[in-house]
Amino acid sequence: MNLQEKMFEELKTKEIFEQARSYAFEYAGQIEKMRVFPTQENLDQLKNFEEKMPEHPTAANAVLEQLHRLGSPGTIAQTGGRYFGFVNGGAVPVAIATKWLSDFWDQCGGLYVASPINAKLESVCETWLKEIFNLPKQTVAGFTSGTSMANFCALTAARYRLLKNLGWDINEEGFYGAPKLKIIAHKEVHASIVKTLVLLGFARKNVTWIDVDGQGRMLVDQLPELDNGTLVLLQAGNVNSGSYDYFDAICDKANEAGAWVHIDGAFGLWAAASKSLCHLTKGMEKASSWAVDGHKTLNTPYDSGIVLCKDPDALITALQTHGEYLIYTEKREPILYTTEMSKRGRAIELWATLKYLGKSGVDAMVTGFHEKAKLLAEQLKASGYHIRNKVVFNQVVVACDTEAETKQILEYVQQSGECWCGGSTWNGESVIRVSVCSWATTDEDIERTARVFVAARKIVGKMET
Ligand SMILES: *Cc1c(COP(=O)(O)O)cnc(C)c1O
Repeated sequence: MNLQEKMFEELKTKEIFEQARSYAFEYAGQIEKMRVFPTQENLDQLKNFEEKMPEHPTAANAVLEQLHRLGSPGTIAQTGGRYFGFVNGGAVPVAIATKWLSDFWDQCGGLYVASPINAKLESVCETWLKEIFNLPKQTVAGFTSGTSMANFCALTAARYRLLKNLGWDINEEGFYGAPKLKIIAHKEVHASIVKTLVLLGFARKNVTWIDVDGQGRMLVDQLPELDNGTLVLLQAGNVNSGSYDYFDAICDKANEAGAWVHIDGAFGLWAAASKSLCHLTKGMEKASSWAVDGHKTLNTPYDSGIVLCKDPDALITALQTHGEYLIYTEKREPILYTTEMSKRGRAIELWATLKYLGKSGVDAMVTGFHEKAKLLAEQLKASGYHIRNKVVFNQVVVACDTEAETKQILEYVQQSGECWCGGSTWNGESVIRVSVCSWATTDEDIERTARVFVAARKIVGKMET
């Protein structure tokens, strides 16, 4: 059999798909029992992937067997209930199933003619997201790999519009000799915003950095004079504390001056979908653009980010793509709203997740993260830990009496295999950062996690004496 015949055979017999399915189910079946972070031995096993590129084809079942044997134990148990690192989020089961199905479609999501179904679901998701977030009618959405790229698309649109306001066409003239824009950000903006500012040619030095309050929110009274050449960068969900900037007050000022406000709401924008938490995002609809993830709070599988922009003309013109072979129809053309050309049909899983949860399901899930974050904060506080933030959303910033103790405890927690949290620096202090953002986290998971912290304190305390 030649290679082509073999591949037809693999599709026909479906054996490798049954094999993959059985590995996947075995994995899913033990997710709550497995270590949240692999053992050193598991990690050492990954070295076995360091092979010479094969001269000849490998049997398909051997490829899968190797991946499962060496790879599965080397994974992070992110779809379980006790992974609290970064703000990664779990994955809603039906969205994983949807991804399986759409993997067989393997759609190229850039153009309507290349995937009508992806284009259609992008339109539907755009409408639904605008409704959930209560955004202005003219807002358009682009579907990206994550919030980093969504931030990039939004700020590219902002750069285009603001320079245009000042009589300059960046697409034609470039940056040489361009009028200077005023970039206003606070000192707690996310790294991806700083990266975008650098990529777009603004550079760090040209940013006016505003101080923040104890929760990481921009101090409104320190806002300088704004004009129609000003970009203001705000945040829905501080990456440590989960705090929200004062959108209402700042957007009013910005809109009066004709400035552009962008809100990075990677995980925090979803508070708008919760009846009990939507006060946090009050006024955010007055901004010009927003960036949000599906793969964090909404629990879609990776990768899924969304750029939302109230100025479609700026977004589309800034990200323009021309080519003789590109066929634009009257239908939605996904390529117009992001930097990417070929891309996954990622709106498919996003649609499935939103359809499955409905408004009440999104509300319940998001509200649940807050409830569980509060529960953990209470339990940790009761066992002598300091909680350094107001737990307004899903983030808990934890510290011990001394920095050394915090670091040792973090290490203990990370190596416990029972749960996993990351570290950070908050207001100049080393802290443990807990992010509750998986649908799979139960109250029992929170209690188990709290027990790990209690044990850590005893053991680290003994080490010190
Ligand atoms: C995670 C995060 C980002 C980056 O999003 P990606 O999806 O990882 O690209 C940006 N801003 C904030 C506040 C985040 O939490």
